[in-house]
Amino acid sequence: MSRFFSERYAELTPYEPGEQPQDQTYVKLNTNESPFPPSAKAIERAAQAAGRLQLYSDPDVRILAKKLADKFGVEPGNILVGNGSDEILNFAFMAFCDEDTPAVFPDVTYGFYPVFAQIHHIPYVEMPLREDFSVDKKDYFDAGGTIFLANPNAHTGVALPRADIEEIVRANPDNVVIIDEAYVDFGAETCVDLAAKYDNVLVVQTMSKSRSLAGARLGYGIACKALITDMNTLRNSTNPYNINSMTMAAAEGVLEDEEYTAANCRKVMENRDFTVRELQRLGFELTDSVGNFIFMKHPDVDGGHIYETLKAKGVLVRHFTKERIAQYNRVTIGSREQMEVFIRTLEEIVNR
Ligand code: PMP
Repeated sequence: MSRFFSERYAELTPYEPGEQPQDQTYVKLNTNESPFPPSAKAIERAAQAAGRLQLYSDPDVRILAKKLADKFGVEPGNILVGNGSDEILNFAFMAFCDEDTPAVFPDVTYGFYPVFAQIHHIPYVEMPLREDFSVDKKDYFDAGGTIFLANPNAHTGVALPRADIEEIVRANPDNVVIIDEAYVDFGAETCVDLAAKYDNVLVVQTMSKSRSLAGARLGYGIACKALITDMNTLRNSTNPYNINSMTMAAAEGVLEDEEYTAANCRKVMENRDFTVRELQRLGFELTDSVGNFIFMKHPDVDGGHIYETLKAKGVLVRHFTKERIAQYNRVTIGSREQMEVFIRTLEEIVNR
């Protein structure tokens, strides 16, 4: 820390992203990316846009916002496009929380939520999940703050039914409820319709997972116009050109190729079923994940040891040190070939 660093941030512990090794030596199952390349349409569109990079990108993201609005049956004014869904979440913390309005989220969830809270000096409540890592909806009735629920939840993949989320929304007419649907396309129920129905719901999605655009950085929020306007005020006060032209074009291309996305999601779900069966055969305990990842622990082999040994053998997964989940590893569902290598390598470790 330099002697010039503002006192405001002296205590901040930054978010720690998963490792991104720059060589190809690992079977990389640690950051929930898609194993499939972006749609050919996305690549073609991005290449065309590269030839116009002397111009600023459209600050109103009009073409893409219209395409997203059409897809979800809402109006462009109900959409905010962000540099990854992380940026939308950041705006949501800034817009809908403050010293008197805490953020409320589960004790096991996306690790960026407490960091967003800290950077903006927002108090937060970490609501314990049940023993099986499911959310008890009653914990969020009259939450007394802004609710952030990843659905399916990060790390565990456990999802709440849409009807339970609607109950939470109805029980909190004076609190904003943010549903982070980063992993919704792999088997959970979306709450986009709730964003159209209630004035206190923001649904956040990303093109980083099911749409293979993690490196392009594209996320979006869907909400009533008033909530979108609030977040837009913050966007226009920080970076009105938050989406670069190549990413915008790639995202437009992706939305013109929804069959490709659907086929990739089906493959991931098939590979998830295969992986779950194999892990159960090896004696692992698993949460009921409907994400593009599984969350596993072995009754006899230490979670940290599994992570380290897999890494030494060329398979990268994600291990978190937080006490409640320190025995677990989170493993992204990759291609069938990747999952076969993962299982073979794991078998060597647990059968030693
Ligand atoms: N929400 C959740 C639950 C996530 O796991 C992630 C990715 N790690 C994000 C949001 C952010 O994704 P992105 O910024 O790539 O859209």
